[in-house]
Amino acid sequence: MEHAFYPGSFDPITRGHLNIIGRALGLFKKITVLVAVNPHKTPLFPVEETKEIIRTATRSWAQVEVDSTEGLVVDYARKNGIYTAIRGLRAVTDFEGEFAMALTNRSMEPTFETAFLMTDSDYMYLSSTLVRQIAEQGGDVGKFVTPDVERRLKEKFGYI
Ligand code: ADP
Repeated sequence: MEHAFYPGSFDPITRGHLNIIGRALGLFKKITVLVAVNPHKTPLFPVEETKEIIRTATRSWAQVEVDSTEGLVVDYARKNGIYTAIRGLRAVTDFEGEFAMALTNRSMEPTFETAFLMTDSDYMYLSSTLVRQIAEQGGDVGKFVTPDVERRLKEKFGYI
């Protein structure tokens, strides 16, 4: 298949997300990582910085692009003519929310498909929320994120 997009908050991008992107590149020729901005949440990193962080983390993959949207994912799909979204599944607990979202998106836009990739067992318990919490307390997040993200987290929380 040609082109898919990977929507999410990516606040910040973790090695779990990167694993999904790397594996999705075996299935799709091009992936757009889409930072979906939630107007009700204040992210740790502003959207432009999040995009820059993702570009840096994915720079070895020429087939990866980064974009953002403040609107609905289905509207992004229609506007850009990309009707396949990728999502990652970590545990059964992810399933219900993902199921609802996939069905809702498809009921709004019948050509819209969501492709799910199972997490690698190394990243099963890894989430951006946990990374933020560990970094906030000055813990070591080197196993979970790239060195660039680790540095930015340390700066953000005043550890360097
Ligand atoms: P959300 O949209 O819930 O804020 P994120 O932005 O963190 O989620 O993640 C975007 C997508 O990446 C979601 O489908 C999420 O399940 C998936 N994901 C996040 N962390 C991992 C991981 N460690 N392994 C596999 N998939 C993951």
